[in-house]
Amino acid sequence: MNNAKAYSAASATSPLARTTIPRRDPTEHDVQIEILFCGICHSDLHSVRNEWSSLMPTVYPIVPGHEIVGRVTNVGSAVTKFKPGDLAGVGCMVDSDRTCPHCQADLEQFCPNMTLTFNSPDKHLGGVTYGGYSDSIVVNERFVLHIPSNLDLAGVAPLHCAGITTYSPMRHWGVIKGKKVGVVGLGGLGHMGVKFARAFGAHVVVFTTSPGKKEDALRLGANEVVVSRNADEMKKHAGSFDFILDTISADHDINAYINLLGHDGNLTLVGAPEKPLAVSAFGLLFGRRSLSGSLIGGIAETQEMLDFCGKHNITADVEVIPIQKVNEAYERLLKSDVKYRFSIDMASLKSR
Ligand SMILES: [Zn+2]
Ligand SMILES: [Zn+2]
Repeated sequence: MNNAKAYSAASATSPLARTTIPRRDPTEHDVQIEILFCGICHSDLHSVRNEWSSLMPTVYPIVPGHEIVGRVTNVGSAVTKFKPGDLAGVGCMVDSDRTCPHCQADLEQFCPNMTLTFNSPDKHLGGVTYGGYSDSIVVNERFVLHIPSNLDLAGVAPLHCAGITTYSPMRHWGVIKGKKVGVVGLGGLGHMGVKFARAFGAHVVVFTTSPGKKEDALRLGANEVVVSRNADEMKKHAGSFDFILDTISADHDINAYINLLGHDGNLTLVGAPEKPLAVSAFGLLFGRRSLSGSLIGGIAETQEMLDFCGKHNITADVEVIPIQKVNEAYERLLKSDVKYRFSIDMASLKSR
């Protein structure tokens, strides 16, 4: 067993603080990775504060982080995909049963026996898995991603959650050249949605409540920006969208967006509002529109997304912070005060 430096929270009300955690010695199929950057996802904060206790109660201490990028330092004897020195990424999952229908379909994210990167039962060491706010991690090679060599690593880290979360539904619902795509909300998820939709060749419309975000939305690749509080502006787009990606995790009027879909248009939710959303059936009946959700993506699709990013030079827009600023970053995250994702530079873990 190895000791790794990490940051953990001891309870729902404790700040994250320096600690030491065990990491297993690589088994024959494992890859050991020195973590260089880890993105901060809103679900890190939800888990640290046990805000999803009914669905996934947090086991303390918790080491969050599932937007991991680093360099391979050691591999097990049977590993074929990686060698020491390779760049490597790890996202939200570190294992699954590989036998269920979901795994067989390359949709490990729906596997009933999937192991999350943190706060999931650890089959090797007991206890729970520890995530990426750490200087190293050991993961089965099937769940380790190859990283294109041309990309900025700090901006690559968030692709492992925010990236695949927005890429996957667009691929599933056929976002291609010539389609009209809406992105609701311009945060960590939304800004990635804009980049992907534009790279797919779609006509991209960003919906935001803040007129101040207009310029940035255009810079990120939007063709148009609509201030959603402006009823006239909304009306102009009625019945015209092929696909809308809704990234909002606060309560909002979803019918206003369903009504912007054309026939057979789809609205996919990737945000998770706390309270149930009220949906008017008529909005779906007229035009055979559909409403769906999406959750990250399988490993094969995550690799496809990373390769796509390499080809199109796509990374997340990040603010790089030392890990000593992580608690401050959480407070800023609550105020959406980041453009558009925090990425922790793990070199900072070496210093006090
Ligand atoms: Zn995440
Ligand atoms: Zn499975």
